[in-house]
Amino acid sequence: MQGSSEVPGFYKLPMEERMNVVKKLTGLSEEEARSLANTGGLPSDVADRMIENVVGGIAFPMGIAVNFKVNGRDYLVPMALEEPSVVAAASNAAKMARVKGGFSVTNTGPVMIGQIQVVEVKDPQGARTRLLERKAEILKKANDQDPMLVSLGGGAKDLNVKVLATIKGPMVVPELIVNTGDAMGANAVNTMAEAVAPMVEEITGGRVFLRIISNLADRRLVRATAVFDRDAIGGEDTVDGIVYAYAFADADPYRCATHNKGIMNGVIAVAIACGQDIRALEAGAHSYASRTGKYKPLTTWEKDANGDLVGRLEMPMAVGLVGGAAKTHPVARAAIKILGVKTATELAEVMAAVGLAQNFAALRALATEGIQRGHMKLHARNIAVSAGATGKMIDLVAQKMVEEKKIRFDRAKELVEDLSKK
Ligand code: NAD
Repeated sequence: MQGSSEVPGFYKLPMEERMNVVKKLTGLSEEEARSLANTGGLPSDVADRMIENVVGGIAFPMGIAVNFKVNGRDYLVPMALEEPSVVAAASNAAKMARVKGGFSVTNTGPVMIGQIQVVEVKDPQGARTRLLERKAEILKKANDQDPMLVSLGGGAKDLNVKVLATIKGPMVVPELIVNTGDAMGANAVNTMAEAVAPMVEEITGGRVFLRIISNLADRRLVRATAVFDRDAIGGEDTVDGIVYAYAFADADPYRCATHNKGIMNGVIAVAIACGQDIRALEAGAHSYASRTGKYKPLTTWEKDANGDLVGRLEMPMAVGLVGGAAKTHPVARAAIKILGVKTATELAEVMAAVGLAQNFAALRALATEGIQRGHMKLHARNIAVSAGATGKMIDLVAQKMVEEKKIRFDRAKELVEDLSKK
């Protein structure tokens, strides 16, 4: 960049003027600025209110995964992401799952945890007891903050108190257990945690620092199961290969990270389409995967007595339909309408099914032909574009690379050069 990144009053400028500043400082061309300024289906004034210092937007393609049957209901599933082959894989896996009835999913309810950190407590165990004795008062104070949530049957329902041994000495940590209904719940829970903090200081005689939701949402779990017919998925070898793949992930964190990443390909793509907090979902998933002290797969795969393959997924799924971008982003609202879910838990259940489907698709490909064949075929067009192909040339270059089984950037460049000469 040219000049200092200190731009006083940048936040106060209208979007267009912010863009002018960025253009001047970075040498962005008119064309580059125009594509950045395009906020797609998100009106620019909404974008400007959603976060700070907005200059534009970035759009992902949204595809619709077909064939999903979850708890006996059919769903068209919107998925937004940049990675080729995910939507195709989900649709294909969902089709195979249908043979045995699709996905069955249950959930533990929309329950989140709000933590309050108390330090410098003289009698941590005594403070814990006193907090528990005054639970009703603390819960009432929390619930007074959100009459709307309480009127809908949600609100702070319980209080858990931990005493932690830390490198800075003992800490008392009361935790509000909050039913957040159709909200993801971070704002609701954080407001409650902040409101009860003075009371917590008075009861414990300590000092409160942090008051914040936990993204390890282990009281907001979804559990999905699907039976995959042995013959429909490629026979006994495929079943065995997938069970071996799972065993590998269970034994080795290096493999497990990629196993779980495959699950999140599906979960996060639906989450982006539906305007969810994907950082919260990732944090929840991976912390839950590590809850035993070892990083483990979020799914299990077994062969049943008939020789069919049974997949199970269990993970936190903190999603909402009220609040956040789910409410303010018009494209997310349209995606939620396509999906047709009526509650946050229904959304969570569909997302669990998609995560399980995605994991199945990846393991099936890995345990048989490898993922590169299907993946690279779909990726060939991206490579063609990055090698400079435009218009009709994109498909010509991609097709040629697939035929030659040389789906590589250097070959794409040669083909682009050849075709440009013609
Ligand atoms: P919110 O505060 O916008 O909406 C929740 C409120 O909506 C509830 O408190 C309730 O009063 C009302 N409401 C109306 N109808 C409801 C219904 N049917 N069910 C439940 N509540 C209903 O949003 P939120 O869900 O509390 O917070 C989510 C936002 O917080 C996300 O944008 C997230 O990114 C952000 N956030 C996340 C973290 C984190 O995950 N660590 C921290 C801070 C903020």
